[in-house]
Amino acid sequence: MSNIQDKVVIITGASSGIGEAAAKELASKGAKLVLAARRGERLKKLQEEIQNNGGQAIYKVTDVTSHDQMEELAELALQEFGKIDVLVNNAGVMPHSFLYKKRIDDWNKMIDVNIKGVLYGIAAVLPTMREQKSGHVINLSSVAGHFVGAGSTVYAGTKFAVRAISEGLRKEEAANNIRSTIISPGAVTSELINAITDMDLKPGIEKIYEGAIDADAIARAIAFAIEQPADVAINEMIIRPTSQE
Ligand code: NDP
Repeated sequence: MSNIQDKVVIITGASSGIGEAAAKELASKGAKLVLAARRGERLKKLQEEIQNNGGQAIYKVTDVTSHDQMEELAELALQEFGKIDVLVNNAGVMPHSFLYKKRIDDWNKMIDVNIKGVLYGIAAVLPTMREQKSGHVINLSSVAGHFVGAGSTVYAGTKFAVRAISEGLRKEEAANNIRSTIISPGAVTSELINAITDMDLKPGIEKIYEGAIDADAIARAIAFAIEQPADVAINEMIIRPTSQE
């Protein structure tokens, strides 16, 4: 039996890209999924697909920038399945631009979704995981959480923050048997780059993404981290296309 069988897994940003691929991968290995994002129609379609393939999933329209909505999401998982084994803090946005363009709204969006969303997710599941004396939080950082490129400054700042938060969580909760995993992808095919409107940057980024790998590659990495025995924590993985410098 897979070590993912019957684990209750909350996935944010499950309506596309990496979150959607992770949902399908984990459902095929027997997880009980709680899918979250803002686009309910997409979540409904994914839930139906998972159920038609014999998997288990529920969904809730959730904006990760709302602390209340994240708490309600965790409550739903508990009501429905009685425990929370894993949170995949995957929701993220990447509207790259140069600092001098002062796209303050985009900065705020990245900080709200990529940093506060991750913290609200942790806040929502931590009391339950501490009580259970077991749990696993998987946070999506990026290669931009390791290296800063011109034009990706604010995004990189948020992804460095995700790594800092993950490492702090690991240290604080190791004694409570709670695992912390950072996943840092390189270029992955998804809807992420659609939000980039700065035409001084977009063509260069599209070029990098010509060599992007499928979201399935990241989904498999997420599954690998979850399926380890409880006393083994995969703390960090960087997954790039082989051809990406
Ligand atoms: P997508 O744009 O395909 O998916 C992003 C997901 O986040 C969507 O499901 C979207 O759903 C959700 N989301 C965005 N804002 C919110 C919000 N306020 N509340 C709830 N959900 C939200 O991109 P990816 O799948 O590529 O991105 C997933 C993660 O991987 C992100 O954290 C990203 O930074 C990271 N990453 C991706 C890389 C790549 O090359 N693709 C590289 C490195 C890291 P909805 O709009 O329905 O709310």
